[in-house]
Amino acid sequence: MSTQLPHADVAVVGGGVIGLAAAWRARQRGLEVVVLDRADFGAGASRAAAGMLAPVAEADAQERALLVHNLESARRWPAFAAELADVTGLDVGYRACGSLLLARDRDEAEHVERERALRERMGLAVERLLGSEARRREPALAPSLRLALALPDDHAVEPARLVAALLEACSRAGVHLYPHSVVEDIATLDAERIVIAAGAWSGSLGAVPVRPVKGQALRLRDPSGPGLCDHVLRFEGGYLVPRGDGRYYLGATMEERGFDTAVTALGVYELLRDAAEVLPGILELEIDEAFAGLRPGTPDNAPIVGTDPVDERIVWATGHFRNGILLCPITAELVADELTGGRPDHAFRPERFAATTEATPA
Ligand SMILES: Cc1cc2nc3c(=O)[nH]c(=O)nc-3n(C[C@H](O)[C@H](O)[C@H](O)COP(=O)(O)OP(=O)(O)OC[C@H]3O[C@@H](n4cnc5c(N)ncnc54)[C@H](O)[C@@H]3O)c2cc1C
Repeated sequence: MSTQLPHADVAVVGGGVIGLAAAWRARQRGLEVVVLDRADFGAGASRAAAGMLAPVAEADAQERALLVHNLESARRWPAFAAELADVTGLDVGYRACGSLLLARDRDEAEHVERERALRERMGLAVERLLGSEARRREPALAPSLRLALALPDDHAVEPARLVAALLEACSRAGVHLYPHSVVEDIATLDAERIVIAAGAWSGSLGAVPVRPVKGQALRLRDPSGPGLCDHVLRFEGGYLVPRGDGRYYLGATMEERGFDTAVTALGVYELLRDAAEVLPGILELEIDEAFAGLRPGTPDNAPIVGTDPVDERIVWATGHFRNGILLCPITAELVADELTGGRPDHAFRPERFAATTEATPA
């Protein structure tokens, strides 16, 4: 890193949504903060994300602490979006559109029923719909659909807009922003505390078990404008997120391929094939972009947030896997608490991995 940085209370390594939101909150608490990113801010997983705020997934059912954490962050989202808009004048594209979880066959219908039972147990709003009822809400859905679950509280934001708003909020608050500044060794940083929010690359800066999980996705556009569908659609093999203006996000594969971000014919084919089975009209859309991003995965699929058990100077804010957009509001608060002398009690502290980790090369 060649740039001469000012001395700071806090240096944040990584300017994705997690690093930027944490920097903003820390600055609001009176700390001098710098954020460094080796690329453009948001160029990691953050801009690649769909932006679904989907706190419950069947796979998480065993992880009650994570479920509760996800739900708490989802609850904070409307106020977080409103505060960002208030401070910056920028809209993060928060759409209270609700989601539909779709089943094409018996196996998928059983999965949908399990998710319904889980949500009902947790007291969450949910509505079981036959295929014909789902089509009344979304007329472009395939007639062959068997079952659907309406999830009226699962919404979405637009990650690229979120990055822009967080950058503006940081800049207005007086956070010092350094894009294109690689941190190779955190010992070189002149700061009292260091927040490592380097996403899938975090393991190259210290001992955390974070690995990249590749996701390929497409940005699609309807030249005739909005109207193909209004809800987020979730189905086996992917999801479709409408932006409300004729743009759609179709994602995403889940692949263990290290730091590879190649877009493959198979990845794109499978996404379009599965989506077309639930929403045939998708094949009429134009492709704006096909791309891949790297989710920061952890062994238990939960984030790693808190002071390093060995080096008190380091605060980890990483490993948000499939939910970093959702968890942005709550993580930013936890990191700011940590930096201002608190040690919030939660299930996602780094010490849960302390006995098992070694630094992994990027
Ligand atoms: C295809 C896809 C779809 C997704 N969909 C959703 C979704 O719908 N909802 C949801 O909640 N989440 C979703 N996610 C997950 C979400 O994107 C991530 O959890 C979140 O973006 C992680 O944010 P981050 O700031 O920790 O990491 P990143 O955004 O990856 O930011 C890390 C930053 O650190 C920088 N960096 C790395 N190493 C260094 C270094 N040595 N020096 C300086 N800078 C460094 C990188 O350049 C990068 O900008 C999705 C992810 C993918 C890939």
